[in-house]
Amino acid sequence: MTMDDERRLRIVEPGGTIGVLGSGQLGRMFAIAARRMGYRVHTFSPDRDTPTGQVADVEATAAYDDLDALRAFASRVDVVTFEFENVPAASVDAVAALAPVRPSGFVLHTTQHRAREKTFLADAGIPVTPFRLVHTEADLMAAVAALGSPSVLKTASFGYDGKGQVKLRAPQDAISAWDQIGRQPAVLEAFIDFDREVSVIAARGLDGDVCAYDVIENDHRNHILDVSVSPADVSPRVRDEALRIGRAVAEALDLVGLLCVEMFLTKDDRLLVNELAPRPHNSGHLTFDAAVTSQFEQQLRAVCGLPLGDPRLLRPAAMANLLGDLWSDGEPRWAEACRFPDVKLHLYGKSEARPGRKMGHLTALAETRDAARRQVLAAREALVRSSSFSSVRA
Ligand code: AMP
Repeated sequence: MTMDDERRLRIVEPGGTIGVLGSGQLGRMFAIAARRMGYRVHTFSPDRDTPTGQVADVEATAAYDDLDALRAFASRVDVVTFEFENVPAASVDAVAALAPVRPSGFVLHTTQHRAREKTFLADAGIPVTPFRLVHTEADLMAAVAALGSPSVLKTASFGYDGKGQVKLRAPQDAISAWDQIGRQPAVLEAFIDFDREVSVIAARGLDGDVCAYDVIENDHRNHILDVSVSPADVSPRVRDEALRIGRAVAEALDLVGLLCVEMFLTKDDRLLVNELAPRPHNSGHLTFDAAVTSQFEQQLRAVCGLPLGDPRLLRPAAMANLLGDLWSDGEPRWAEACRFPDVKLHLYGKSEARPGRKMGHLTALAETRDAARRQVLAAREALVRSSSFSSVRA
């Protein structure tokens, strides 16, 4: 066996050490799952006292393009995964020379760029939102003519939570929209007047085994995920098709790891992929409390070469994000949310609460999806109600 084969097929047993590129809440919840199963965790990012670093064994602090620091990090771990996909390709290559990187640099390279991602999906026969690549003003004009309006112009790189995107209500908005995103390489997409947004989280093991969680339904507010509920309220045909797409994307990417496929369900019941995330996803946070195997443990199992766990939900569940805006009148009333027996509180250890910043989430389990949604929203509301009101309620 060559060194490359050995690295590609290496199984990392409990007791081993996992490197995580990135240090946010996704890495934190991954590290909690990993430590529970006896692994050690090293995290790498430019920041200190991070959500992941607070629960990891080692917090390495250096820039993502500091190749010497990356090599030192890689030489101390058995496998490397990531929770943040904007790591430069050269950095991933430097790490991959010393430790297996799962998912691979190819998966990262494809999914960190909207144009590459959409082209890859379309070439693999996966239904995607109609799109055109835009490099020049002439491309933009041709794209607007082809897709009509409204449409959405999105930067090819570094976009998330609606950042780097502008809606074109009419063709004459095109130039000002392109100016707003800095005339950088972009993708123009048809605007989809969707019925709802759903996501599928799928994992693929080192042996090629694929498994997917039930479909999750997502509500956004100001382009940021607000509430997720699973199982989604969709027909059995749509459910099967969403799961088929999730599995097909994992296969097409030759994934070893976990990925989220975000989709629009159109008013005529078609599914169109909006974007991919090759890591645990905010819409899958409810699996931490509600599934036999959480998305974080599943990522761990996949990247370590262990058999995948059962993704079944124990009960219908809902998740509500806690953004920094909740802190505008001071510290939220944590005890009020904890009065709900079926609600779980997750906080990410971030010291500064800024508007729009994801600080934590609540999960509720109930007999039905609607009851779970009602519970999680009531618990979130209780966090900010005046104390006299909430004590009457309780
Ligand atoms: P994104 O950063 O691409 O995930 O976009 C964030 C959110 O903006 C999505 O979850 C949708 O709610 C909305 N959005 C993005 N692209 C489109 C589109 N082509 N049509 C309609 N809504 C969109």
